Amino acid sequence: MLGTFSYHVPTKLHFGVNALGDAGTLTRPFGKRALVVSMTVKPYLQPSFAILKKSLEDADMTVSVFDGVVPNPTLSSVEAGSRFARETGVDVVVGFGGGSVMDTAKAIAVGATHGSSLWSYIWSSDTQPTDKTLPIVAIPTTSGTGSHVTQVSVFTNEDERYKSAIFNERIFPDLAIVDPSLMVTAPAAVSAPTGFDVFTHAFESYIHANTSPIVRTLAREAVGLVGQCLPVVLEDPGNLEARTQMALADTLAGMCIANAGVTLPHGIGMAVGGFYPNIAHGQALAIVYPEFVKYTLAAAPDAFELLRQSLAPAAASPQDAIETFLERIGLRKRLRDFGAKASDLDALAAQCMVLPDYQANPRVTSAEDMRAIVEAVY
Ligand code: NAD
Repeated sequence: MLGTFSYHVPTKLHFGVNALGDAGTLTRPFGKRALVVSMTVKPYLQPSFAILKKSLEDADMTVSVFDGVVPNPTLSSVEAGSRFARETGVDVVVGFGGGSVMDTAKAIAVGATHGSSLWSYIWSSDTQPTDKTLPIVAIPTTSGTGSHVTQVSVFTNEDERYKSAIFNERIFPDLAIVDPSLMVTAPAAVSAPTGFDVFTHAFESYIHANTSPIVRTLAREAVGLVGQCLPVVLEDPGNLEARTQMALADTLAGMCIANAGVTLPHGIGMAVGGFYPNIAHGQALAIVYPEFVKYTLAAAPDAFELLRQSLAPAAASPQDAIETFLERIGLRKRLRDFGAKASDLDALAAQCMVLPDYQANPRVTSAEDMRAIVEAVY
């Protein structure tokens, strides 16, 4: 018998090749003045950026641009965006980019209308965003973080080397426009870590203490799609069919984390991101995964059989499967490959115990085990 469970994602989703052209008519109901948030727009994204801007202007909107987003956003970068929004005056915030951009857009939607530092709104704080939060439109250019359908905005307090998140219902995007043609320009160095991140969201939601029948159903579909389609987009970046399936997997996996959550690998991956912002989020997770599989396997054998079947069905075990898949997508690395220092490991292991993600893992980690895992992935 199924137990009691809830499922909720309020975001309106508009999905399809060339869906970007509908941005104006879909965004206009949220107000007249749009702030488009992005990284510095590189030449490969300029044509689609122009389509977005024209679509908004054709819908009788005024468009300002904040292009100061940095990968693995920092507190100072999201606060700079919030100041810009306050000075400019905006009705709706449109994030056009990867997870770093969409998360910055969400933080700006809070920062533009609320006083005090954005750090005072992170998940563990008593202060939380209110209904003054501006409407948010999320347009992903990576597959990805699922941020277009989650209530999460991740950024790092660079002074404390602490990567955390606002986690609040108010920052679910009101609208997500997923156009797979925006992702074809991503090289393997972007698509491999972002695509593996999709797998981790679905898999960790599948094994999460708060999982549900709906989450497990979405997650099974998402992990299968990543196993089939991620290697294809790495070999053939212009393959629009495979890009579309990855964009769908990303969206399903985002819906999973919005309703269940992530576990041990993300607790470690977030701490790694705070210490070493040069490591892409998906790469940080890939560093952790083989050790996580070894550590957790016996506590959830059926789930790890799903991992084996999805990622490398010919592999003899889930451990072989994860190693084979990471090798195939070029992410089989260690912390030391990115300049991590052995002298950081005690502090890093302590930071891994700060976010509660590890507590939702089928095998709950002691501080001693965490130190050993961090050592093993170093
Ligand atoms: P990213 O947004 O940092 O982008 C990585 C790189 O990809 C950038 O250099 C960017 O310029 C490039 N890029 C983006 N789109 C491209 C395209 N179409 N073609 C070519 N290059 C392109 O990477 P990400 O993995 O999407 O986001 C990572 C951030 O999201 C991290 O901070 C992570 O912690 C966070 N995150 C958030 C959530 C959430 O629910 N909010 C979930 C998971 C991760």
